[in-house]
Amino acid sequence: MEFKELGLSDPVLKAIDEAGYKEPTPIQAQAIPVILMTRDVLGIAQTGTGKTASFTLPMIDILAGGRAKARMPRSLILSPTRELAAQISENFEKYGKYNKLTQALIVGGTSMDEQIRNLDRGVDVLIATPGRLLDLFERGKILLADIKILVIDEADRMLDMGFIPDLEKIVSILPPIRQTLFFSATMPPPIKKLADKYLSNPKTITVSAPSSTAENVEQFLVAVPHFRKKPDAFYKLYKKEDVKNAFIFCNRKRDINDVCRFMKGKGIKAAPLHGDMDQSERTKTLGSFKAGEIDILVCSDVAARGLDVPAMSHVFNWDVPNHPEDYVHRIGRTGRAGATGRAFTLTVPNDAKVLGIIQKLIGKQIEMLDLGLGHAPPPPKEDATRPPPALRQRERRHNRAEKQNRRHRHIDDMDVDLDEKKGGDKDGGAFGDDVPAFLRR
Ligand code: AMP
Repeated sequence: MEFKELGLSDPVLKAIDEAGYKEPTPIQAQAIPVILMTRDVLGIAQTGTGKTASFTLPMIDILAGGRAKARMPRSLILSPTRELAAQISENFEKYGKYNKLTQALIVGGTSMDEQIRNLDRGVDVLIATPGRLLDLFERGKILLADIKILVIDEADRMLDMGFIPDLEKIVSILPPIRQTLFFSATMPPPIKKLADKYLSNPKTITVSAPSSTAENVEQFLVAVPHFRKKPDAFYKLYKKEDVKNAFIFCNRKRDINDVCRFMKGKGIKAAPLHGDMDQSERTKTLGSFKAGEIDILVCSDVAARGLDVPAMSHVFNWDVPNHPEDYVHRIGRTGRAGATGRAFTLTVPNDAKVLGIIQKLIGKQIEMLDLGLGHAPPPPKEDATRPPPALRQRERRHNRAEKQNRRHRHIDDMDVDLDEKKGGDKDGGAFGDDVPAFLRR
């Protein structure tokens, strides 16, 4: 399939050619002709699949014919984060360079006056985060009665970030006759309900997650016998590796600050990046990281999404991600643009199942490192979800024996529990008496 078969105009094709794209990605090949026919689309796809261009390219052609009135944008793209909004805006700039469309970015954390001035001039494409858009609407600075195309991007992230009530309010203000393009990486029930409500006879396009991890990223699992040993494991690794700059991903927001405190205690220049920080703090932190004043960003998946940062030497997964596709996204932060990168994932024995799924997704076994921190879990099988029958039988027998043993060990276990409640884990190590939350679980 070639771009010129999709029905796009010559100016757009020229911009695509200059972007260096040889052929459309699967979501582009399927979505572009349908969007050009002004049909609704439900795209189940995530970042990395080329989904942004799948809606920006046809939108440029659909909007090319008309003109916007002051304060009345003609299309609206809702994004969960400011960073993703900025990326979408860059896409319109890049692909719309031979069209005369105007756009405005309405996101929190930046001056409202300038955004209002832009709206006054009339915009064809309005890219916004839900909170700031509602704020401007409620102040009477913007009218949404002329919206002909609505794009909801990364709907599941909006759910994670608590934006659904804002989103519902915004959509209730929009004209009911419009084209709606709805994108989400996953379809949990609340998102499915929204899609059913907002879309009319949509074409559903599902593309699989980018499942192959970059060739030039060396990946390792690091066997940690207990989550309390993660700080020790990380620090050992950090001393061995030549870390220039890195992301450390944590699954829980509350662990991020604790990990940062630990880093600072070790003299490592680290800073947090998560969704609870306000926008100006996030922008400042990112700026310091890009300027090399901070070496390590400790972040959540949501905050790191859509961030345009230079290639990093390392990525560390403090926790194995709960969603296997997040593993691919996380480690893809290193090894970019021909550079080589290294990705380390700290794993505890409980992670075996999700690691099995991750290895199945990426189609390879990740090398296991043993840093000598004590008893290490056995390397997980490629698909640990369903072991072969002989193993299953052995496992059942083992579980029965374990159950009996546990009955006999009952009294000893109670002692251990009491010790832990008193904070008596003598070899927990790195934190002394100031035990952070991620060690208290
Ligand atoms: P996205 O999934 O929209 O975040 O896009 C991921 C990356 O793929 C972006 O850096 C785009 O510039 C790039 N991209 C989009 N479409 C294509 C294409 N057809 N060929 C090559 N790269 C593309």
